[in-house]
Amino acid sequence: MSTIAAISTPNAAGGIGIVKISGPDAISVADRVFAAVGSKKLSDLPGYSVRFGHVHDGDNELDQAVAIIYRAPKSYTGEDVVELQCHGGLYLMQQILRLCLENGAVPAEPGEFTKRAFLNGKMDLTEAESVMTLISAHGRQAADAAFGVLSGSLSGEINDIKDTFISAAAHMSAWVDYPDDEIPELDFEALKVEFTDAKSKLLSLIDNFDAGQAITEGIPTVIVGKPNVGKSTLMNLLLGRERSIVTEVAGTTRDVVEETARIGNVVLRLSDTAGIRESDDLVESIGIEYAKSKLNHSSLILAMIDGSNPLDEEDIAILEACKGKPSICILNKNDLGSTVTEKDVEAYVSKVLSISAKNKDSFEVLRESLEDILGTADFDTSAAMLINERQLNCCKKAVACIDEAISAIEMGLTMDAVNVSVDAAIEPLLELTGERVSDAVVNEVFSKFCVGK
Ligand code: GDP
Repeated sequence: MSTIAAISTPNAAGGIGIVKISGPDAISVADRVFAAVGSKKLSDLPGYSVRFGHVHDGDNELDQAVAIIYRAPKSYTGEDVVELQCHGGLYLMQQILRLCLENGAVPAEPGEFTKRAFLNGKMDLTEAESVMTLISAHGRQAADAAFGVLSGSLSGEINDIKDTFISAAAHMSAWVDYPDDEIPELDFEALKVEFTDAKSKLLSLIDNFDAGQAITEGIPTVIVGKPNVGKSTLMNLLLGRERSIVTEVAGTTRDVVEETARIGNVVLRLSDTAGIRESDDLVESIGIEYAKSKLNHSSLILAMIDGSNPLDEEDIAILEACKGKPSICILNKNDLGSTVTEKDVEAYVSKVLSISAKNKDSFEVLRESLEDILGTADFDTSAAMLINERQLNCCKKAVACIDEAISAIEMGLTMDAVNVSVDAAIEPLLELTGERVSDAVVNEVFSKFCVGK
């Protein structure tokens, strides 16, 4: 196993910067680049020791630093680890990292520290995945939810479900393989109840997925509407600052601006658009094409209409595009009157709101509607939750196999037949927690991490 090193603090100047080294030679690599005051070598010290000293390149002292030593297996990665805390200058940290690399370490891949923690059994795959969610959390709810998974809320739930199937499978195999022994016969009705219970736990995880994503990852959201209906004004209301340029001239919001906005418990990944009307203007057309594709790739549409003016064909075309998708129709400019009513538009969208984007109080109205439509208002962040598509797919696969097992019981099939479906249900659960998972999946999971984590 190689010894890896990386800068673990952000790629920017800061008060303190940390270069982390992990692997069998971590402490000797650190000894070559760091001299503790009092000249005691780090390799002579036990784990959890801290020493003040200097990072040096031969005779050339680079910085004062503090070295923290962790000895395997009592470290984040489960290996020997040294953290060199220096002054957080970017150039300085790059020099210190370079020194470590010249003295026996190799550069860490993205997420390699956490990957090693997973491979060394310090955490399961769901816990490892939650590290990234925790780092990128935009608010308390997201952080709470990610921390819950990191602390094992999801693994605990999945392990309980898995144990149900493992003990059923063991019992069935024993009964089939040793018919002469006094193994009690399986009560299929009781088994069906257990399987149905396990299935409903998985279904509740699956049902809460979208709300969890709204909280942790954010919902890709697009704001569409004709020019001048107030899209930029709405952006500014949601972001709480003048990010979009609000103008009186139709069609001037040409570029698509993307921003992340936290509205109550919900994180919206917002795109402002150039409107979706046809246009001959080349620059604007590029924006419009992009807007249309955004519409198809967004999970939530905020369709804006100037409610103080009658609906026209362009408004209807926009509303048509919302049909069947999670969407909110915002009848804007209600301070100027309400020519368009809720009844006129409700058939196209999931929800209709009448607001004035210019009025700051409209934020609360929007927040309530968003939490309502996304199901985040009562979201329990301490409960187990799925944090990505990989986990979601594992649960869906398990549910399909449980369904097969239940129908095998209902049809009165042999125990062997039930057992095949039970075994098949265990597989995706083992994959979810990472107990039985291919290298390709593991590499894919950690490739999304940042270097240094
Ligand atoms: P966009 O082209 O859709 O981005 O529209 P803008 O946000 O640039 O708004 C166009 C014009 O409508 C600006 O002059 C805004 O100040 C105005 N506007 C936006 N929302 C409201 C509203 O709720 N009430 C009124 N009276 N004017 C608004």
